[in-house]
Amino acid sequence: MINAQYHLQQLNTELEQVRLCLLTTLSSSCNLLHHSLAETLRKNNPEQWLELTQKQLGTEYKDIIVRLEQLEAAVCQIDIGQYGYCCDCEEKIDSQRLNADPTAQRCGNCEPRS
Ligand SMILES: [Zn+2]
Repeated sequence: MINAQYHLQQLNTELEQVRLCLLTTLSSSCNLLHHSLAETLRKNNPEQWLELTQKQLGTEYKDIIVRLEQLEAAVCQIDIGQYGYCCDCEEKIDSQRLNADPTAQRCGNCEPRS
């Protein structure tokens, strides 16, 4: 049995951390454009951040952006009731795996092959 509410809490906690990390990184960048982007983000709903940042950030932000995408995708799957299923074989992903990474998209059988 997948405890979606528990994982939703995990996801939201990490989302907050990653968003804060993005703001901090932007604000401390030596690129002034990043400072104004941080200001723009602060004025907007966090759900729009990916859209706002996508075309403006270089590869040094790739890890943060990818993680944001994964987290938001998982939250979205919980919303539509499709959370916790392997995207390859559609079997349930075991809870140990989801505890380790609540954004896991593949079961233990498919992950090594992907
Ligand atoms: Zn699978």
